[in-house]
Formats: sequence, C-alpha cells, structure tokens
Amino acid sequence: MKRIDALRIVAAHTRDLPVVVTCAASSRELAAVADGPNHLYLLDAMGLAGSVATGVALGLADTEIAKVVAIEGDGSLLMNPNVLATGGFLRPSKLVMVLLDNGVYGATANLPTYGSRIDLGELAAAAGWTVRRAADPEELGERLAEALTLDGPVFLHVRIAVGNATDVPKLLQNPVILGRRFQDWLAAREAR
Ligand SMILES: [Mg+2]
Repeated sequence: MKRIDALRIVAAHTRDLPVVVTCAASSRELAAVADGPNHLYLLDAMGLAGSVATGVALGLADTEIAKVVAIEGDGSLLMNPNVLATGGFLRPSKLVMVLLDNGVYGATANLPTYGSRIDLGELAAAAGWTVRRAADPEELGERLAEALTLDGPVFLHVRIAVGNATDVPKLLQNPVILGRRFQDWLAAREAR
C-alpha cells in the first residue's frame, strides 16, 4: 500500500472531521486525492501534526465533533516524539493519530528513519495510547473505522510502502489562508 492509497482511505473516513496533516508529500498527496476546508496542511511545520491535533482535540472536548485526526509520518513523529508522552498524559479522548510509517524520510531520498528499527506503535502504547495496526487497505479501512469509535488517544500504526506519488503538484497555497479556512470550517461545524 502506497501513501496515496492510504490517504485516499483516511480521507474517505474523515469527510466531516478535522484532519491535521504533516508536511511535504503527506500534505501534497492528501490535497491531491481529497482537498477540503476540514484539512489543515501544516506544510513546513514538521513534527507538529500531533501537537496541533492534540490542542484541537482538547479545545473541541465539549462539542459535537466526534474526533480529531492527525496524519503523521515516521520521520515527522520522530522529530517530536514528545507528542506521544503529551497525549498519554493529557488523554484527549477525541484524538486519533494515523501514523503512515514507511521507515524512511520520503522528502530526502528515502534515508532511513529510526522507525526502521524502533516500533513506534510500542512507543505509543508505552505512553498510554490505545494502539491499532494496519498493513493493507482492507485492514486500514477496518481499523480506522474502529479507531473513530474508541476513546482516545488512539494511535493507528499503518505500514506503507516506500515511495512518493508521481505527478502530484506541489502545495503552494498560503499557510495563513489554509489556517483561516480550517478555523472557519471548525466554527461553522461547531455552530451546527
Ligand atoms: Mg516516512
């Protein structure tokens, strides 16, 4: 399963949920398969999808919005593994992190990450997250549907193949406008 295949499945399950996605190929490929105002693309803010989603999940604790989904990569999560301890400590019940783990930095010639030897799902479990795993499209659909019903924080560890999608355009939108679009969507969604 390639990253873009996994993102297609995640997007299909999160059409009405806030989704915070890490930078580079993850943002670009998600925007290519399903763009929408519920997506917050972090562009250059590597390592912070989980942190932003934690804040959003805590802020939305008393609203009708059921879950907040962070999409991370292994390299990005390893830049800020503290997000696992923070999630385990604060226990945001609406937080779901989908880790798309290919064991490499997709933006830098596929250099290996520590994820190639360290089980990031075990790290999340040790910090107190509920962990589910998937390695093919069918498992991803099933485990994600389940994850969206569980009390968070939930960590869905997804094994994906190395390689970025080709012919996907760069995401060159203004981050301020993307952030505003997300805030406006959240405000309208909360007011429903
Ligand atoms: Mg990676």
